[in-house]
Amino acid sequence: MRASLKGRHVSGAERIVCEEEMPAVIKELLHRPKEHDFLKITLEKITHVERIKALSVSSFTFREVREARDFALQRLLDAGVGEKVARLGIELLIKGPNPKGGNMRGAVLLDIDSGERLEPNKERGVRTVRVDWALREKAKKLFLKKGLSLRTLDAVAIATKNIHCGVKAELCWSDDPNYLTGYVASRKLGYVRVHPLKEKGNPLGGRIYFISRSELREVVECLERRAFLLEDLPSFS
Ligand code: AMP
Repeated sequence: MRASLKGRHVSGAERIVCEEEMPAVIKELLHRPKEHDFLKITLEKITHVERIKALSVSSFTFREVREARDFALQRLLDAGVGEKVARLGIELLIKGPNPKGGNMRGAVLLDIDSGERLEPNKERGVRTVRVDWALREKAKKLFLKKGLSLRTLDAVAIATKNIHCGVKAELCWSDDPNYLTGYVASRKLGYVRVHPLKEKGNPLGGRIYFISRSELREVVECLERRAFLLEDLPSFS
């Protein structure tokens, strides 16, 4: 589902469900955006779904953006990103990753060795699609109980798929001026929430996927085409 208001994107969501669940899910998605003047729901039959384990989730809070960004940098180094390339990723999100200025709809693909941008379309980026929680309702309840939002529920699903598709490390913070928590993810570290990765009121954000250039084709094909369900619930620390 995607919805907009006066030409501006306001809401988007994706679900992988059995045929019997479709009417209820369509109804839920219809009522999801608070306000819109355009809403489109696309249905697609998926014949093959791969089941994967959710990344574990940990959270770290700092007093200042500077400290939080230093911490995120260290986690990227732990994930195997060289310091120059890790700093480049952080700088891209600080200045807005779209070469024409501002945000992108998808993610930047950064060569983990050279720091070169590899995404075929640098204004759009690459979008991670076709991923969902097998036990969405249970996962949702668990996240809410832990004080985590539905936004985090979806971000953990995206990050988990990314790592399974061959992304070596990911850095993200939102373009929502009021949402300041971002994350670093990798196979070894899991999904590491870091707060605050930007100042309140800042409308810039994005996602950086650090990948190996030699795997570019397979990674993009996996992110855009292969369908994944997270089969379990994550552990939290
Ligand atoms: P959000 O966390 O939804 O505010 O998204 C932050 C940024 O991540 C957006 O500005 C996009 O550049 C990027 N992004 C959002 N959704 C996706 C996705 N499904 N796949 C890749 N990048 C995304």
